[in-house]
Amino acid sequence: MRHLALLLVSAVLLFAADAPPVAPAKAAPKYQEGSCCDKATKKGEKCMHPCCVKAAKVGKVCDHCNEPVKK
Ligand SMILES: [Zn+2]
Ligand SMILES: [Zn+2]
Repeated sequence: MRHLALLLVSAVLLFAADAPPVAPAKAAPKYQEGSCCDKATKKGEKCMHPCCVKAAKVGKVCDHCNEPVKK
């Protein structure tokens, strides 16, 4: 059992060393009030719309569903 534990520890260490450095936390993306993404976020989920998922992947907010505020 001792051997297995050692193996596990080294596996975890190896994984940690391999992980990319954690990017500094950015300000939460701004979703338009009432948009699909806004609703999902408020439920503690992520919007699953393909367009929103695609935008989130590049660190953006889907402007298809979250129109920029017009004034
Ligand atoms: Zn969305
Ligand atoms: Zn979208």
